[in-house]
Amino acid sequence: MYDIIIVGGGPAGLTASIYALRARKTVLLVEKMVIGGQVTQTDNIENYPGFESISGPELSMKMYEQAEKLGLKTVYSDVKSMQLEGDIKKVETFDGEFEAKAVILAMGAVARNLDIDSEREFRGKGVSYCATCDGNFYKNKVVAVVGGGNSSVGEALYLSNIASKVYLIHRREEFRAEKVIMQKVNEIAQTTGKIEIITNSVVKDIEGNGKVESIILTNLAEKTENEIAVDGVFVAIGRKPDTGLLEGVIELDASGYIITDEEMKTNVKGVFAAGDVRKKGLKQIVTACSDGAIAATEAIEMLNKR
Ligand code: NAP
Repeated sequence: MYDIIIVGGGPAGLTASIYALRARKTVLLVEKMVIGGQVTQTDNIENYPGFESISGPELSMKMYEQAEKLGLKTVYSDVKSMQLEGDIKKVETFDGEFEAKAVILAMGAVARNLDIDSEREFRGKGVSYCATCDGNFYKNKVVAVVGGGNSSVGEALYLSNIASKVYLIHRREEFRAEKVIMQKVNEIAQTTGKIEIITNSVVKDIEGNGKVESIILTNLAEKTENEIAVDGVFVAIGRKPDTGLLEGVIELDASGYIITDEEMKTNVKGVFAAGDVRKKGLKQIVTACSDGAIAATEAIEMLNKR
């Protein structure tokens, strides 16, 4: 039996583990994929205080090593089911069942799909959701990045160092990405033309023979269609929480995000949520860490009162 099980090894979960371990609680971290979560897909982070510039994998590893030195135990497995009500919580994974007195849910969010049939057909055959993972396959090739947020713009910048040409396709005129990174993209677009920004457009279809060869774009303003030859499509249109297992137990909003109070408490006693899985405004590494610290502190306080 652990004091706390943390589900999800991104910045929220890792920060929670550091706080809990420093309070001498026993902690099990359950991570289904890679330590760091979606942060590992970010090539360059410039807004995490203390690091002028650091890669996502490096920052994640630093957090993990810090937790590991404090005695963090980790299970790399997906969660099958959770029994969260009552004093003893049970987390069943594909590698065994674990018990704890408190649970911190910090499983982040998964990539959103374009939701077109050809996207599913070409997944892994030219359709990707992670430029830092798959970008190297596109050396001197032509790629499209879809989306208008920080992720898509960051991916376009990253890919512009690898691919011969990057089309950045956004459905509106205005981008929601931070001004500082939009400025970098605009500079490249204007000076080298390596990035070409296409606005007011959506991907209607992806075409090819066994692998991606082109995309069909619909221009929403002009109501026209055109085909662009590309070797790869990077979809970066945001994320959605992976909270299907919690339905009916933990209170979720209409989009599936966990509802908490300011102390990261969910509607179930002893269950806390932190990071991007939680309904909140600003979703950044620094706010995920903040959530993790609060969730762990509240969990520690609850355990100490028992
Ligand atoms: P996001 O900010 O939610 O942006 C998603 C983008 O995809 C939006 O521009 C949206 O268009 C577009 N979109 C959504 N559904 C679409 C669809 N079906 N078809 C076409 N376009 C669609 O998501 P994100 O860029 O993944 O960022 C998520 C969070 O992580 C944000 O808070 C972001 O600031 C943060 N982040 C930070 C950094 C960093 O600071 N280094 C890096 C990456 C991410 P509309 O604009 O029209 O809604």
